[in-house]
Amino acid sequence: MKSLPYFCRGEVIRGFGRGSKELGIPTANFPDSVVDHLPADISTGIYYGWACVGNGDVYKMVMSIGWNPYYKNTKKSMETHVIHTFKEDFYGEVLSVVMVGYIRPERSFDSLEALITAINSDIEEAKVKLALPEHLKLRDDNFFTSAPSSSSALPPTTASTSQTIMNGH
Ligand code: ADP
Ligand code: MG
Repeated sequence: MKSLPYFCRGEVIRGFGRGSKELGIPTANFPDSVVDHLPADISTGIYYGWACVGNGDVYKMVMSIGWNPYYKNTKKSMETHVIHTFKEDFYGEVLSVVMVGYIRPERSFDSLEALITAINSDIEEAKVKLALPEHLKLRDDNFFTSAPSSSSALPPTTASTSQTIMNGH
């Protein structure tokens, strides 16, 4: 995928309460404005990369890009699980991410247990891949130090503007 690494940011919105948090794997959802700017060569599936909330620390993440059942599978969703235990939810805050690599395509699972096992193996793969020097350096990218601290600092067009700038560098 030539668009990787892919940088983007947006406000964390409420998802569909599919119980990700109850499984121990909460996923922060991006609004359509971010999803709609995804380059065409970014296919659905599971990605790994780096993420930060507001202007906080940068952590490893896994992201699922999938077809969104709420829109009868005509729109994509982007859901990020940050590999860190936060004290509080961060709905309404700005999540900045860089998608670094692809793990696997989307698939369905026969049981909840099989799903959780797959996600935990995705998390392990993300940890190993992100420890590689070429991926580690993205954690220190200026993109994260320039993160706006609140979503009100994000003009409506920021998603596309920052993507264009950041992905051209
Ligand atoms: P929703 O359906 O609203 O997305 P989830 O059960 O998936 O609900 O929980 C997602 C929310 O949990 C995020 O929007 C965020 O506020 C919070 N959260 C807490 N810890 C994390 C984390 N490590 N990664 C992602 N989101 C987290
Ligand atoms: Mg979620």
